[in-house]
This record gives sequence, structure tokens and C-alpha cells, in this order.
Amino acid sequence: MKRVVIIGGGIAGFCAGIYLRASGYDTLIIEKNAVAGGACIGWERSGCYIDGCIHWMAGVSPKSSLYHIWRDTHAIMEDTEIFYQDELMRMDYSNGKSFTLWRDLDKLEKELVAFAPEDEKESRRLVKMIRRFQHIDPPSNKPVELMNLKDLLKIAFTMAGDYYWVKKTSKISCEDYAKRFKNKYLRDAIEDFMAPHYNLMSMLYMLGHISAGDGGIPVGGSLEVVRRMEKRYVELGGKIRKGAPVSQIIVENDTAKGIILKKGEEIRADWVVSTTPVEHCTMDLLGDKYREKDIDLRLENMEDYPIYTYTVAVFKCPASVADKALSIKLRLDEPITIDVPYSHVAFRNYGYDETLKADDGSCVIQATIHGDDKMYFWWKEAKEKGTYKQEKQRIAKEMLAAARAVYPDVVDQMEIIDVITSCTYERYLNSRHGAFQGFVHTDKGKSLMQNGRIKGLKNFILAGQYIIQSGGLPPAGMSGRFAAQRICHTDKTKFCTPEN
Ligand SMILES: Cc1cc2nc3c(=O)[nH]c(=O)nc-3n(C[C@H](O)[C@H](O)[C@H](O)COP(=O)(O)OP(=O)(O)OC[C@H]3O[C@@H](n4cnc5c(N)ncnc54)[C@H](O)[C@@H]3O)c2cc1C
Repeated sequence: MKRVVIIGGGIAGFCAGIYLRASGYDTLIIEKNAVAGGACIGWERSGCYIDGCIHWMAGVSPKSSLYHIWRDTHAIMEDTEIFYQDELMRMDYSNGKSFTLWRDLDKLEKELVAFAPEDEKESRRLVKMIRRFQHIDPPSNKPVELMNLKDLLKIAFTMAGDYYWVKKTSKISCEDYAKRFKNKYLRDAIEDFMAPHYNLMSMLYMLGHISAGDGGIPVGGSLEVVRRMEKRYVELGGKIRKGAPVSQIIVENDTAKGIILKKGEEIRADWVVSTTPVEHCTMDLLGDKYREKDIDLRLENMEDYPIYTYTVAVFKCPASVADKALSIKLRLDEPITIDVPYSHVAFRNYGYDETLKADDGSCVIQATIHGDDKMYFWWKEAKEKGTYKQEKQRIAKEMLAAARAVYPDVVDQMEIIDVITSCTYERYLNSRHGAFQGFVHTDKGKSLMQNGRIKGLKNFILAGQYIIQSGGLPPAGMSGRFAAQRICHTDKTKFCTPEN
């Protein structure tokens, strides 16, 4: 039986491991952290569960092309309850103006038109575009290079009409698209709904899926999703070692032969799959000896291929916040300065999920500010200057002060229990510049569906969210499945899916 070592016990690692086990490989996942999950994680502080990931998960609907991956890997099971949020986001302004982006598109259209009649035509057009994206799905069954003529014709046939819209909306940023609206609040909301540099296609894909009944949140949160996947993997006979950082990929005669752990132990294998952030893999684990042009292009051009990072303050709140809106974005009159002044804070209230509440009923609200590489460099400098802890406290307190505008009756009972920065993501995931997701799909950048190979290096496969733009759970899951298919194809082994 051939042995595969998979570096990284996140979504991509478990997907690769599960499909490889089902196809008859001996698999070992090596995860650096004590708990598996990678970016899809949750943890406890002050008796509260803090969810570190899922705001929406594409592929939870049986109609989605991604559904089979989540079911095969037990990310979701037949009886997994899915929560669908009706209010995607409420936008609040200090002058009392407020409107809601609804999941129901008829309701959304009505709300937008009533709020800004001057933009009626553009709002109706936006909703029409979202409807177009409701059925657009990435081809997740197999990687393009393994498709036969029949597969390709099927995609061409089913996606012919979509291609025009995908291409057109990929070439405009949310920031530029927002300029079509006359109403300054709508402009503000559209520009900042995801982040200004995302292309419009990314926003439409998200809104399309959520409004179509896909993109819900598995009840129990991110950690439960990963626990189910880990259980599935182990039950299929897969092995995992946690708390074991890899320091090097062994390469002999341009062929991957295994890995060396930080503690010096050598583990030999017939194949190595890396699901780690791609820069860490090529620069640190492979010693910068093998380059891949699609990846280099992205690593070298931060303007067109930025990464996004977060600064998050977590509050323990009284049980009564459970009834309040799930997601509120507040426009600040007095910006909060991190690397630059930020004028939006997004509040997310986890009281919607009974299973995530503390024993005494306390709920968690997370306040998030969204930034890019520059936010990471600022946090890194704060660490070097010795002001990191102090700045974390300052920013969390400013976010808590901002919370008074949205939770006036409970803000005095809200307590800061954790602060997450770009450096947290870097430390925990080895991620590029503290990224929480892969390379962002901007209007200037090219789309990426990397083939998992690094030129000149045999018996090695790249997987993980960085090889399929813009990252996220579906690209991570797809890349894991594709890794197994690529190995099976090279070895001329039958690719099998696990029985459900
Ligand atoms: C705050 C936040 C919110 C998010 N929200 C959403 C959302 O709503 N919807 C969505 O689709 N996606 C979301 N994402 C993104 C999603 O979590 C990721 O795209 C996905 O989990 C990535 O999975 P992965 O397996 O590709 O990578 P990772 O999760 O990064 O897994 C790679 C693993 O490799 C390990 N590793 C790294 N270096 C080494 C080493 N040297 N040795 C051993 N192990 C190593 C890491 O510890 C990690 O466990 C969010 C992410 C964050 C952080």
C-alpha cells in the first residue's frame, strides 16, 4: 500500500485524507497545532465558545455541486442542522439611518428601492444579477486536466450563459460598481459589504448562493464541522499526528520522499501533499528551490493579488443579546485607527445558535475590522516595538465603545474576552501576512485554478485554499479531493469515494 503524508489538518487536509483512504492509500496527516481544523476552528475563553470561521458555507444545499464533498467527508451529515440567516447584514449609520440586506431577494429589492428611490433602476439590476448567480457553481467533481471531452462539453453546455456574466463581473471591483449608486449609504454598503477590492463577481456569487438557500451555517459551529471530518477520517483508518510542525519536505532527485518534523524525526512516504499556505510551503518547507509561476505571480504582485486579514475583539455578553440582530455593520463617526483609520466595524452576534451558548446562557459578539497586508505589517511592527498587548487592548476598548451605538442597553455588561490580530492568524496557520483566506480575486487579477503540481518536483501535490481563488471552504475542500484524484491518476489507481 502506498503511503501519503499530508501536511496540514485543516479542511483540505481532511478532504485529501478521506478520499485517499477510500482509494486504498495509507495516509498520515501531520498538523502543527494541538487541535486540528486550521482556519476552520473554534476555542474557549471565559466559559464561552468563540467561533473562528464559518459565516456562510457554500455547498450545504443538496442542489449545490459542492454538496457531495461535504457529505462524503461528513463536514455535514444527513442530520446536521443548517441555520439560514434571514438578515444578511444590517447597515447602521450614526444619524439613525439603517437598512437591511435580506436573504430573500424580493424583500431585499423592496428594501433597497424604499430606502433609495433615486437608485431604483440600479437596485433592481443588482437583484437581477444576484438571481443569475444563484445557480453558478464551480466544477468540483474533478480537476480540469482530468476531464474528458464529455465532461468538458457538459460544463460548456451548462455554463455557456454564465461565462459572460462571470467574466463581465470579474472585471469590476465592488468599489467601482458602488459608484453607480447615487445614494451615499447604498454606495457605502455595497463598497464595504465584502471589501472594496473584491471583484463584483465574488459578491454576487456569495449573495446568489445564500439567497438560493445554499450558504447556511452548520449548527454547532466550525469546530464541530472539523471534528466530524476528523472522526470520519480516523474511522476510515487514516492516521493523524497533532502538535507536530513540519520543518522540511525531503526531496531526492527532484522527487518528494517524505518530511522532517521540527523535532528532527524523519517520516518517509511515496507522496507528499501540502495543504499549508503556499508561501510557507515553497519558501520554508521546500527551501525556495522549486518555483511555480502562477503562485509567484501572486506572491510578487500584492496590489492585484492582495490578501485580507482581520482584527477582531470578542465580547462575552448577557443572554439577552441573543434576540438582537445577527450581523450589523456600523459606520463610525470617529474612526478606529490601526494601520489607517477604519470607519466600519462589523458586529456578529452568535446568540442564534443555542449550542454555542455558555452554560449560564452568555453569548458571544465579535467585532471585526477588515484590513489588508498593511494591517499585518502594522501589527508585526507593534510586536517588534513591544506595544502589541497594549494596542490590542486599546483597539478592543474602542470597538467596545463603538458597540454602544448598536447595543446601548447591554454594552455595560459586555466584557472583552479575546483579541485576534493578523499576527494571530500568521502564528496559528503560518499564513501569508496574517491572511484568513487565499489570494483575493480583484478586478485586476486573473482567476486561479492551479493544477496542484510544482514544475520539476515529482510525487508532490499542492492543495489548500491558496491554489483556487479566492480561497474559502469550497476551494479548500475541492483542492483536497483534487489532490487525491491527481495522485490516483498518476499511479493509475481507481479513485474511490467513501460510502455514506
Ligand atoms: C475568521 C475567518 C472567517 C472565515 N469565514 C469563512 C466563511 O464564512 N466561509 C468560507 O467559505 N470560508 C471562511 N473562512 C476561510 C476558511 O476557513 C478557509 O478557507 C479554510 O478553512 C482553509 O482550509 P485549508 O485546509 O485550505 O487551510 P488551513 O485551514 O490553513 O489548513 C492548513 C493547515 O496546515 C497547518 N500547517 C501550516 N504549516 C504547517 C507545518 N509547517 N507543519 C504542519 N502543519 C502546518 C495549519 O496549522 C493548518 O491547520 C474564514 C476564515 C477565517 C479565519
